[in-house]
Amino acid sequence: MNMADATNLQSLRGALRLNEPMSKHVSWRAGGVAARTYAPADLDDLCAFLRSISRTEGLYFVGLGSNLLVRDGGVRATVVFTHWALRQITLLSTGESNIEIHAGAGVASPKVARFAALHGAQGAEFLAGIPGTIGGALAMNAGCYGGETWELVSSVTTIDRAGGLHQRAPNEFHIGYRSVKSISGLADEWFVSANFKVPHGDADNASEKSRNKIKQLLSKRIASQPLQQPNAGSVFRNPLNDHAARLIEVCGLKGTRIGGAEISLKHANFIVNTGDATAADIESLIDLAQNTVREKFGITLEREVRIIGEHA
Ligand SMILES: Cc1cc2nc3c(=O)[nH]c(=O)nc-3n(C[C@H](O)[C@H](O)[C@H](O)COP(=O)(O)OP(=O)(O)OC[C@H]3O[C@@H](n4cnc5c(N)ncnc54)[C@H](O)[C@@H]3O)c2cc1C
Repeated sequence: MNMADATNLQSLRGALRLNEPMSKHVSWRAGGVAARTYAPADLDDLCAFLRSISRTEGLYFVGLGSNLLVRDGGVRATVVFTHWALRQITLLSTGESNIEIHAGAGVASPKVARFAALHGAQGAEFLAGIPGTIGGALAMNAGCYGGETWELVSSVTTIDRAGGLHQRAPNEFHIGYRSVKSISGLADEWFVSANFKVPHGDADNASEKSRNKIKQLLSKRIASQPLQQPNAGSVFRNPLNDHAARLIEVCGLKGTRIGGAEISLKHANFIVNTGDATAADIESLIDLAQNTVREKFGITLEREVRIIGEHA
């Protein structure tokens, strides 16, 4: 194992596990094991953990795994879970035009939407429909219904391989549609928290209006998405001026199955696990949809979901 010696690890307060099934930690409920997982006790413990491991150790940060597939052969690296520890959410300030919220990377995005609504701010409601963590939302620039995570970000704190913390401004990143890249090319930094500025609502009952908007948004999702079955949301990004779901549907692929994976009958850009899907079943369906749309329309759909690990 490529970790530092056991003495370093003994002083840590988090939970280290070996050969942890990642199917327990991703919303598709499928896939292989992670060689090691670490759930830090808190931010200090995370810093200490990163200081204790070898600089060459492969590292993945994982939130709620709602946009992630781990191949059946597993991932030979250390997966760091954020959502058990980095869960603080606080109101930093109330200014003339907005409030500022601090949220740890492990906070569930819907919690930030509800927190903003509670404090009479409007504009973070879309986060209620994104069933991941703030870390995942920052990494993906998650969004829906016209809102995107980074539109609200005033600053982020990142952690590097050596456990060092950095305060970074949005202009240090290239922010695109479901895409975020560090401008200076710093690949080995992960998000530990963010500060969000959310505008005040324009009416006396802003809080209630915001809560109603969240309710409406969630009902829309229940009506249009196969939320009863394990899935990872939209598999593909929408191509310019079109919808991946439309293209897949026109190809007649709704309901197509490979093993236990199925292109949802309810929403063609969702792949659901009908019970016993392997990661390979899911990935084969992704390839099938991509190839069929390319052959029929000459459009290459780009994956939104992230795939890591090795084939079995
Ligand atoms: C039913 C359903 C509906 C969805 N609807 C939407 C939607 O409307 N809009 C949308 O954008 N997405 C949607 N998603 C996808 C998903 O919820 C989002 O991408 C979410 O932001 C991922 O967060 P997560 O914590 O689950 O990330 P994970 O799946 O755990 O990780 C996703 C990626 O982010 C990286 N990452 C995670 N945490 C960190 C961190 N702290 N620092 C650096 N990198 C990190 C991971 O390494 C991985 O590459 C949906 C998913 C589901 C299941």
